[in-house]
Amino acid sequence: MDIQIEGLVKTYVSEGRTVRALDGIDLHIPANQIFTLLGPSGCGKTTLLRCIVGLETPDDGEIRIGGEVVWSRSKRVAVPPEKRGLGMVFQTYAIWPHMSVFDNVAYPLQVRGVARAAIREKVLQVLKHVQLDGLEGRSATRLSGGQQQRVALARALVAEPKVILFDEPLSNLDAKLREETRKLLRHFLTELGITAVYVTHDRVEALALSDSIAVLNGGHIIERGDPQKIYFSADHRFVADFIGRANLIPATVHEQQPDWTVVRTPWGLVSCQKRDFAPGSQVTLCIRPEFLHLTARPEGSAPSSTEETGVRNVVEGRVEALDFVGEVYEAEVRVDDQVLLARVDPTLAVGKGDMVHFALAPEHCLLVTA
Ligand code: ATP
Repeated sequence: MDIQIEGLVKTYVSEGRTVRALDGIDLHIPANQIFTLLGPSGCGKTTLLRCIVGLETPDDGEIRIGGEVVWSRSKRVAVPPEKRGLGMVFQTYAIWPHMSVFDNVAYPLQVRGVARAAIREKVLQVLKHVQLDGLEGRSATRLSGGQQQRVALARALVAEPKVILFDEPLSNLDAKLREETRKLLRHFLTELGITAVYVTHDRVEALALSDSIAVLNGGHIIERGDPQKIYFSADHRFVADFIGRANLIPATVHEQQPDWTVVRTPWGLVSCQKRDFAPGSQVTLCIRPEFLHLTARPEGSAPSSTEETGVRNVVEGRVEALDFVGEVYEAEVRVDDQVLLARVDPTLAVGKGDMVHFALAPEHCLLVTA
């Protein structure tokens, strides 16, 4: 089932101050996708999720789930949470410690008066999905954090919700378990083909898990797209900066060429991925550290498409800092008054104080709003 949100507004008054937590949200969440609401703390993502579930009453706008209006100010509709057919998994595991795994998961079906045999079959099937089969008799407290969260997941799934909503469900797990549970989640949500709305402030989680991501800030949706679009070709500086580490350099559009957009940067002209900005526009050049290909001596010439204009996507700088971070070194390289962050292959003989060169592939030079 899809979710359609139109003109959603929610304000809070706290200590005499009015906060516009949602400032006119228009959003379509397609059916059978994992859709992530991503943004910094306080951007409104939990408020939006709670409005969809019905735990929060908006001030204005409309929410439709599978075409049915569940909340509308103008139509005076407010379907209560339990009638919206949604499942929800929270950050805290919210399972009952005095019950077994089986009873925790069976609870929503028992409340509905489902026959015992049907409950057993369904519960065992769902436990298999979340890889807890064999643990149904165990007390819920005798489980690891990751297993407890999977019990909560199973309980949300067993009721066969139209949509399942997740509010930072992995944030209480340690890094390794978080990664494992994330993979499991991705696997079974895709297999079930269910609509999932997922809230997180963790960009890696959002990139790894989602079919689509909406990036929020200050109660607005800044941009939406699939993970590759959001990471490699965001339109907005805020999004490019939030989704990954980035070198952000002020630039002015110099000219449009058939294949590239050429900008003037503090160190000269640079050919970039083509973007529809007028010459003279103030923009930001975004280069991810992994795309700054650093060499100890000058690279060859710039890509042939830019040769005739004299644009050379090669930059020279001095290494100011070099940190070993596991697979690679991270280098801070001063280029005039800018300091650029680059990933350096550990086999490259580069030391602090060395002069180095970067080759900037135009397709990895992204232009975003200033
Ligand atoms: P986090 O990642 O920290 O949970 P979030 O993006 O989910 O943040 P929300 O919890 O939706 O953000 O909050 C959005 C804004 O609304 C924030 O400025 C927050 O302080 C405010 N807010 C949320 N709930 C209330 C409340 N009950 N009373 C007053 N202000 C609130």
